[in-house]
Amino acid sequence: MSDGRSTWGENSVKDAPLYLRPRVDPPLASLLGDVPFLHSLVDALGSPLNVLLPEVVAENAERFRAVFRRHHLAGRVYFAHKANRSCALLRRLAACDPAAVGVDVASLAELRHALSSGFTGDRVMATGPKDREFLWLAARVGATVNLDSAGELERLARLVRTYGLGRVDVLARLSGFESDTGNGGAGTRVLSRRSRFGTPVAELGELLTALERHEDSVRLVGLAYHLDTTGLEEKARALERCVLAMDECRARGLAPRAVDIGGGFGVGYVADAGEWERWTTALSESVLGLRPPLAWRGHGYGLRNEGGTIRGTAALYPAHRPVAGPAYLEELLARPAPALGRPPATLLLEHLNDLYVEPGRALVDQCGLSLARVLDVRLTGDGIPLVRLGMNAGDVSLEEHGVLVDPVLIPRGDAAGAPAADGREGGGPDGYGPNGYGPGGDGPVGVHLVGNLCLEADLITRRVVHLPRLPRAGDLLAFVNTAGYVMDFHAHHAQRQPVARTVAVTEEGGARRWCPDEDYWPLTHPQGVPS
Ligand SMILES: *Cc1c(COP(=O)(O)O)cnc(C)c1O
Repeated sequence: MSDGRSTWGENSVKDAPLYLRPRVDPPLASLLGDVPFLHSLVDALGSPLNVLLPEVVAENAERFRAVFRRHHLAGRVYFAHKANRSCALLRRLAACDPAAVGVDVASLAELRHALSSGFTGDRVMATGPKDREFLWLAARVGATVNLDSAGELERLARLVRTYGLGRVDVLARLSGFESDTGNGGAGTRVLSRRSRFGTPVAELGELLTALERHEDSVRLVGLAYHLDTTGLEEKARALERCVLAMDECRARGLAPRAVDIGGGFGVGYVADAGEWERWTTALSESVLGLRPPLAWRGHGYGLRNEGGTIRGTAALYPAHRPVAGPAYLEELLARPAPALGRPPATLLLEHLNDLYVEPGRALVDQCGLSLARVLDVRLTGDGIPLVRLGMNAGDVSLEEHGVLVDPVLIPRGDAAGAPAADGREGGGPDGYGPNGYGPGGDGPVGVHLVGNLCLEADLITRRVVHLPRLPRAGDLLAFVNTAGYVMDFHAHHAQRQPVARTVAVTEEGGARRWCPDEDYWPLTHPQGVPS
């Protein structure tokens, strides 16, 4: 046994396990607690399996709406469809108040899906770069087109005229915000991060001229931005700039009414701030060589050691977030904005602007989980067991998005450990004693979670994940809160491995029901009539 190995082993026994346990709200917690139900679903439908709670997405929309009401703001919550492909989530949202909840689609297929899920065209916002077909259908059904560029405006106007489509409502998406920090112009110019999307604010004048020129085919209904950042300051600056730009539009005789502040409200994945703090500190220490590596082959998540000093920035999602989702919107609206020194909510209200938001990740917070069967467990050279799952990194793309959060162990039920689902060697706890990892399978243990592809890179998590005990073949691991980008954004058919099925779970009169995602409709079941 090498020195490194024994140190690692001792550490894991002596130190508290480096847990990053998930934040789980009551509906999801209740589902997680129903162990026989989850096992029977995977027994029937295979691993991996995605489970969604459509009711929760409606509750989340309502939480965003409550922030609007608190600030007396009119407007709409548009779900950014790209966060999840599910039918059930979209249909449930379609059943919400049409005046309050819409959908943001970023492709022709998403637009078709929204329409077939029950959204009328006037509740749809078309964003992102668009081809002719996407533009045509959006215009045809009366969707609002969130213009990505001046070029797109030209293409849309030509289409409207050529095919006699009638005037289309458009938002102008802006980017490249800058403003000085005060000090009578002596402050530093702060530029928001560069974006591939939107028209730079500096070119707004030309864009407005073009919008006036195409007045017969498009109607400017508002200004928009979407900044892919967690920074409140940057967003407040952009919001403020948009409010001012709205006035510029009106001064020219245009009549926009809404400011669309995009998405990016975020989700808190890890429940406990202390665990997050401890883990990130340990990452720095391990990169400095003060403790054994925390991840496969010493991966440092973007941090490096330069002569005893940490360099680089960790490419990690801030997994513990005290302020996220509707609370983040509240904070953004209520705290004084940088330049004008007044809360954006007040600015919006005084300037008679409606507010549009486009949450993706935050709207599907706590809406689902991804289940994987444990196929086998083996010991490796570095003494850290490999837990092989019936899923691959595409099925639960946590690492892809830099989201670090532990799965929840859902035991098979019989203490002896069931044989592996594929009939191969059982993954019992034997043989995991010598390095101090989970002797006898009891007690906390650090493991690598690996996928079902014949590919070295197919790691579900590069970091060592600490679990309360060593999993056994037949157990399930539940990755919690995966509905936003994690469960299906990167899913693929490599090696012809099965892509996860998705089911929608509802509760009626205390009874839990499930159906395939595509068979869910937002209807209750008449009593006595089977679904
Ligand atoms: C992706 C995207 C969103 C949603 O972002 P989240 O971070 O998931 O809230 C909203 N609007 C636009 C234009 C997007 O591209």
